[in-house]
Amino acid sequence: VKRIPALTLWRPWTACFTDLPEPIAKRHENRGWATNYRGDVYLHAGQRWDPSALQVVAEVEWMHGGCLPVGTATVCVDREPTLSPNPADHPTGIVAIAELVGVCSLTVDLDSRSSCDCGQWAFPGQYHWRFANVRKLPQAVPCRGAQQLWYPPDGVAAQVEQQLAVAR
Ligand SMILES: [Zn+2]
Repeated sequence: VKRIPALTLWRPWTACFTDLPEPIAKRHENRGWATNYRGDVYLHAGQRWDPSALQVVAEVEWMHGGCLPVGTATVCVDREPTLSPNPADHPTGIVAIAELVGVCSLTVDLDSRSSCDCGQWAFPGQYHWRFANVRKLPQAVPCRGAQQLWYPPDGVAAQVEQQLAVAR
C-alpha cells in the first residue's frame, strides 16, 4: 500500500471541499504551519464540529448569489443552502483524497499587509494550503484523527485505495 498522509479538519470544513459546487468549493485550507510535502493527501473529517464553517459557506455563497445570515435569519438569493447544518449528516473519517499543490505564505505576517489571490476561503495570518483534484470517497472510512500530517493504519489506507480503484 502506497503511503499517503492524512490531514484532519473539523467538520463541516471537509464538506466545504467535497460537497459544494465547483465555483464556490473550498480549495484552500488555513493552517498556522507550513509543509514542504506536495502530492496526494487524505482529507479526514474529525469528530469536532465547527459551526463557523457554515458562516463562511454562507458568505461565499452570498458573493456568488447565494445566502447570507441576517440576524437570526438567512436571506437567500437564487440558491438553497448547499450544506446541511446537522452534524449527523456529515460522516467522520477519511472522506476524500486531494492533491496538495502549493502553500501560500503571503499573508502570514499580518504587519506586512500583503495580500494574495487565494480567495475567500483563505484567511489572513495563515498559511494557505492549496488543493486540487479533490476526489470524494463514495463512503467515508472511519478512523481516528491526529495533529499535523499523519499516516492512517494500513488497513484504513487499503480501504480508501480500494474505493479509489473502483472509481477509476
Ligand atoms: Zn494565499
